[in-house]
Amino acid sequence: MNTTKKGKIFVFSAPSGAGKTTILNCLRDTIPNLVYSISATTRKPRQGEVHGVHYFFYSVDEFKTRIEQNEFAEWALVHGNYYGTPKSFIDATIAQGLHIVMDIDVFGKKNFDKSYPEAIGILILPPSMEVLEKRLRGRGTDDEATIQKRLTNAITEMNFAKAEGKYEYTVINNDLKIAETETASIITGTISN
Ligand code: 5GP
Repeated sequence: MNTTKKGKIFVFSAPSGAGKTTILNCLRDTIPNLVYSISATTRKPRQGEVHGVHYFFYSVDEFKTRIEQNEFAEWALVHGNYYGTPKSFIDATIAQGLHIVMDIDVFGKKNFDKSYPEAIGILILPPSMEVLEKRLRGRGTDDEATIQKRLTNAITEMNFAKAEGKYEYTVINNDLKIAETETASIITGTISN
């Protein structure tokens, strides 16, 4: 009989620009024993992004084949691109007693909960829409149309998370250092239980 205690699953969601990626990068440095799930997507790689490290970058056809082959624990269309979470990796990781961190949009998270109801949801929110817009423009990675789309989507996503999401924790990213500390203590506190 396998007596290894299963690892915990932490799912992070946030409207883009809320600072989730920065917080996740900080967690990588402060809590070394976490495993990061690598999602699949059909969006084009941003500068510096590497296939198999940041995402698995697939064509739409490849992605759809993988949906048919039942490879994803959940998938969703986010900002016009497909994103999905490969299932085999999660199962193998938690079976070894390792804790996994995932980044899933609010709609995908709801589907994910059907397969993994024990997952712990952490919602990262910006302090205001004004701050969110400033951050999206400041990172200089997206064109104007994309920024507008992400801002409109942010409102829809935050409303959905409030009404239908299952998030055990909400972290407001006003001051990055405080948000990072808060997030790290949520994780260390949960792991030690
Ligand atoms: P970005 O393109 O900026 O890396 O991510 C855009 C959005 O896609 C984010 O809201 C992020 O949470 C979401 N996302 C990333 N990976 C996945 C995934 O595996 N599944 C789902 N449903 N959303 C994801």
